[in-house]
Amino acid sequence: MKSHARVVIVGGGIMGVGLLYHLTLEGWTDVVLVEKGELTSGSTWHAAGQCPHFNGSLNTTKVHVYGTQLYPKLAELTGHEVSWHPCGGLRLATTDEELRWLKHVYGISKLAGYEAHIIGPSEIPRYHPYLDTFDIKAAFLTVTDGHVAPADITNAMAAGARKLGAEIYRRTRVTDIRRLPSGEWEVVSNAGNIRCEHVVNSAGSYCDVVGSWTGHNVPIANMLHQYVITEPLQELIDLQPELPVVRDPYSNAYLREEGNGVLVGPYETATAHVCWDGKPPAWDFESELVAPEVDRLMPWLEKATRRLPLFGKAGVKSVISGAITHTPDGNYLSGPAPGPRNYWMHCGAAIGVAQGAGAGKYLAQWMVHGQAEINMREYDPRRFGNWADVEYTTATAIEDYHHMYYCYAPGEQHEVGRGLRKSTLYAELAQHGAQFAQVFGWERPRWYSPDNAKERFSWSRSNWWEPVKEEALAVRERVGLMDLSTFTKLEVTGPDAFAFLQRICANKLPTKDGGIVLTHLLTPAGFVESEMTITRLAADRFYILSAAVAQLHDMDQLTWRRSPGEQLSIMDVTDDYGVLVLAGPKARQVLAAVSAADLSNAAFRWLTGKEAAVAGVSGVRLLRVNYVGELGWELHIPMARMPVVYDALMVAGRPHRIHPFGTYAMNSLRMEKAYRGWGSELTNEVTLIEAAMDRFVDLSKEFIGKPGTVHSLKAGPRILLGYLEIDARNEDCVGNEPVYHGNTLVGVTTGGAYGFAVQKSLAFAYLDPRLVREGTEFDILVRGEKRRARIIPQPAWDPTNERLRA
Ligand SMILES: Cc1cc2nc3c(=O)[nH]c(=O)nc-3n(C[C@H](O)[C@H](O)[C@H](O)COP(=O)(O)OP(=O)(O)OC[C@H]3O[C@@H](n4cnc5c(N)ncnc54)[C@H](O)[C@@H]3O)c2cc1C
Repeated sequence: MKSHARVVIVGGGIMGVGLLYHLTLEGWTDVVLVEKGELTSGSTWHAAGQCPHFNGSLNTTKVHVYGTQLYPKLAELTGHEVSWHPCGGLRLATTDEELRWLKHVYGISKLAGYEAHIIGPSEIPRYHPYLDTFDIKAAFLTVTDGHVAPADITNAMAAGARKLGAEIYRRTRVTDIRRLPSGEWEVVSNAGNIRCEHVVNSAGSYCDVVGSWTGHNVPIANMLHQYVITEPLQELIDLQPELPVVRDPYSNAYLREEGNGVLVGPYETATAHVCWDGKPPAWDFESELVAPEVDRLMPWLEKATRRLPLFGKAGVKSVISGAITHTPDGNYLSGPAPGPRNYWMHCGAAIGVAQGAGAGKYLAQWMVHGQAEINMREYDPRRFGNWADVEYTTATAIEDYHHMYYCYAPGEQHEVGRGLRKSTLYAELAQHGAQFAQVFGWERPRWYSPDNAKERFSWSRSNWWEPVKEEALAVRERVGLMDLSTFTKLEVTGPDAFAFLQRICANKLPTKDGGIVLTHLLTPAGFVESEMTITRLAADRFYILSAAVAQLHDMDQLTWRRSPGEQLSIMDVTDDYGVLVLAGPKARQVLAAVSAADLSNAAFRWLTGKEAAVAGVSGVRLLRVNYVGELGWELHIPMARMPVVYDALMVAGRPHRIHPFGTYAMNSLRMEKAYRGWGSELTNEVTLIEAAMDRFVDLSKEFIGKPGTVHSLKAGPRILLGYLEIDARNEDCVGNEPVYHGNTLVGVTTGGAYGFAVQKSLAFAYLDPRLVREGTEFDILVRGEKRRARIIPQPAWDPTNERLRA
């Protein structure tokens, strides 16, 4: 065994081997994989091997497309046989909302470049003569779906990696991982120790145990999943070509052909549970099945028989039951673990056979080049904090399993695992009808339901529409108040704090105390990594705000960018402060009624901050900035005292008919102002030049990512953010809708909303730069309907910023 390697991957399932292969393809050949048993002996060997394309996320679709393109070629590329079955797939829709979902995914198929068609029930027999089409509204036909023996592709990628220099140690169990003072990692195994620059946790069902050795919380649960295979049927022996894989929301199952019999794998919607009573599997558990629970399947198998009567004609030959890792949101974990550098997670996959190749490719890019070509935020392990404990993870993973074939409408979330992080206003806002969304564990109000009716989740505008209109117009015409305590809040202090931030931020930092700036951290190549609002509290003290979900990510970004010897400290003060956003033309009057601070424009200018007492609460940080584009202040209040300030503002605002507002209204208001959002318009896929954020770059100084930014400026953007007005009807853009110019696909939307004050449906889209000019007309494919759209050259609301400077 080697004593040193650049990378050590723990775990030889499809995820670990997929990464190993792609690291070698990206040029890192001093790479090692350690597997306690044989390759695939965890979950991978018994997977049903389906590789679908149908997915609602553009990034995940790219992951899947890569796999279905690679797997048929793997034999040729690696010399190892692979049994790829290019049978196609049919995803059924049985309700109108599911049909809308299909239409949304159809748009994604155009963007990701795979062939798909939405067909009516009468066309289904052409592709699948044995399906009973009762209750089916439509089907999503994917031509290039397939299934494959998981061991074939894993072993083929292992062979390919070995040819390029990788080493694989089988029958070697990793027993510990330690961080050395040098910053390297030491992987301890029963066959010796290996020091490495990078360590990767690909330990499948054991990944939480392996993570715990280094104090990492890995939120996965091992769910028990089963499928059955029948004896061969004459009908299928006689049939050519193979039937497509059917995914049916009625039986909540996949149904396909296997060895001339029928294979059915249901995702039960009420009775699923974790394996091994939630305990980790024994270390010697290898290539084994978990004890089958056929009773649990029976109601679903009966439904499957109704959908595919052929299934009921043959006896069951085998039942395969095994563990699948599920994360709380169903996406795998791939990317850096929080904390010390170069510990990577690559685990938690629930459909790892379909995803193993693509997931490996994009993580390999990230590790080797510092970033992937797709946006990896959906997979970044740091989207979960320590709040994602075992109880939460188990509840949400079970829900995720139950809902494998449930169609989530935009904004819809799991109902379990809620209430983990709350501001001190939670109970009061709930009483006012707040409808909460969970974000990084927090409960954050989306909108206020006047009659406390719950949100009717839909692809169309629904019961939130009128209340959100009220909220948005209150901010534009009078004054609104919002609890935005979910902000990530960090403080950088010390003699080198200013120089440090100057070096890592693209924008100029404030040189006067109280100055506020919006700025970005860029990757070395100049792509957007983080977005932050920085307030200079003192020459050596800076208060940093960023997105709720960026809490661990941004802490890492600041910590990792420190140079040795820099004298500063970085503190997370997120939970110390609650945040209220007071915004609207009457904001000054309302705040003045509860604070003696001089709020006049001369004394308190836009983009400045001060500490003051508000409603008798001292030490409130007042920042004259907001994301809605109105006169207003953010009030950063010691968390325990927030209710006092909130109540006082609500009383002071009564004469002005103050209205609480939530994130739906905020999204509408920010779209009217053409404010970009981190994670939607601002991602690691674009430079600030491409995001049309040139004015947030200070080229007169040196900063990380400057050469890439200069290059983007000189070479010209590859894509450019456009701001569009759409002739929408009852559905606004949600992002990832394809944009056409004539019949040519020229871009993709990143988000949108209806602007109530300007009475326009608005969206952002990345477009062919040549087309981003006033008046250019496009068609956006919104849930299957082409909608006319045109570029508008400036923010739809207050383009000269007079209101927020008032
Ligand atoms: C019944 C069933 C059907 C499925 N069908 C499909 C399907 O049709 N399509 C699809 O895409 N997915 C399917 N899946 C899911 C798929 O099997 C998993 O998502 C995938 O196998 C996960 O791969 P992995 O590499 O993360 O985990 P694993 O395959 O479990 O690999 C992890 C490896 O790490 C090793 N390991 C752990 N700890 C250590 C240690 N300390 N030292 C050394 N080695 C260690 C283990 O021995 C194991 O080999 C199915 C799963 C089941 C159970």
